[in-house]
Amino acid sequence: MTPCLRRLGALALGVALAACSTNPMTGRSQLSLLPESQVIAQGRQAYAAELKPWQAKGKINNDPALKARVDAITDRLIEQAIRYRPDTRGWNWQVAVIDAPKTLNAFCLPGGRMAIYSGLVTKIEASDDEIAQVMAHEIGHALANHGAEKMSVGMMSDILVAAVAGGNRGYQQVGDLAALLAWQLPNSRGAEREADRIGIEIAARAGYDPDAAVSLWKKMQAEGGDRGSSLLSTHPAPAERMTELAQLVPAMRPLYAEARASPPSAFTRLPVNARDITPGSELTPPVALKPLTLLSPALEQFKRGEALLPCDDCALGFQLRQGKLRALHAEGDWEALAREVLDVGYTRDIAWYYLGAAAEGLGHAAAARRYYAQAASLARFRETRCQGVLLDLCGGITLPEAAREGLKRLGDD
Ligand SMILES: [Zn+2]
Repeated sequence: MTPCLRRLGALALGVALAACSTNPMTGRSQLSLLPESQVIAQGRQAYAAELKPWQAKGKINNDPALKARVDAITDRLIEQAIRYRPDTRGWNWQVAVIDAPKTLNAFCLPGGRMAIYSGLVTKIEASDDEIAQVMAHEIGHALANHGAEKMSVGMMSDILVAAVAGGNRGYQQVGDLAALLAWQLPNSRGAEREADRIGIEIAARAGYDPDAAVSLWKKMQAEGGDRGSSLLSTHPAPAERMTELAQLVPAMRPLYAEARASPPSAFTRLPVNARDITPGSELTPPVALKPLTLLSPALEQFKRGEALLPCDDCALGFQLRQGKLRALHAEGDWEALAREVLDVGYTRDIAWYYLGAAAEGLGHAAAARRYYAQAASLARFRETRCQGVLLDLCGGITLPEAAREGLKRLGDD
């Protein structure tokens, strides 16, 4: 059972099944009652409504130098965002600079419409790297579909309140509901962490210094002041948050260095602010680049032959994903297979065998040998083999023979 389904335990299963989807960026299971397309349509209306009063006062993009600076930064971020989610190439990526020197705020709505209030640049004297961190964080919320999630949580709580009011005892697990809402709310710690994680990586790939993620929040914190109209009102920046960002920096440095060594491709801009991006148009990089996935520390560990599968009693989780694991194995989608196995963390021989196959497929021979050897050795014991009396988790693979064959293929060193 996925975490999302487990949390929804008290709800009607039909609703719950329809409600859970996989986060397109992080693989996290999230509540999603609305299709993203609908949330994007609502984002378009919200954007127009937000900008309208500023437009009327002539306060949108009235500083050409600042507008050009923000455009240059967001263009580079968008280019990378599209590499993580190629389907967002069709979004209406655009950014408005709002002349509001007292306001420290910025946003990116579902569908790619962004805005930054000039105070965020002028009041804290933000560097390009710091502007990039703010905008990449906001883009992270949009890519991770937090808008749809937030609206879904609102809808779900309505459904539950109605059920409770109707006296349906099956739904009266208020504790579960509270946990669900706290966990799901997009401006919660979890969603902020997710947007921070995505943002710092996209910014690094676009050639912006990861250290600026920390310095930015320090400046925001110091400015504090008028929280009502600032990013801090929706983005609390406790010390813990800066610590976590600082911990991400070392992993981002190689990406940053790589981007600095080969600057992101330049692309032609449309002469107006609103850029309607159509597939294959001006945002197409000159070379077709491989789609990116977020760096995963567990995956890097796996490649080094140091994977950990710590879960003894995850048979059910493994069983539920068995169809997917078999399919990934059959298709040779090695990275996805490794991610899936690591995510479950089940400690049996078959899981190690899958890691062996994935490492072999990805060309990490030393790691593959270690995982195959582990699989062969665990297959000898009743407690650690996939073939049980009641439950067969082997997925049609014969162990230890298959692991031994892998070892033979790979040779001694
Ligand atoms: Zn945020």
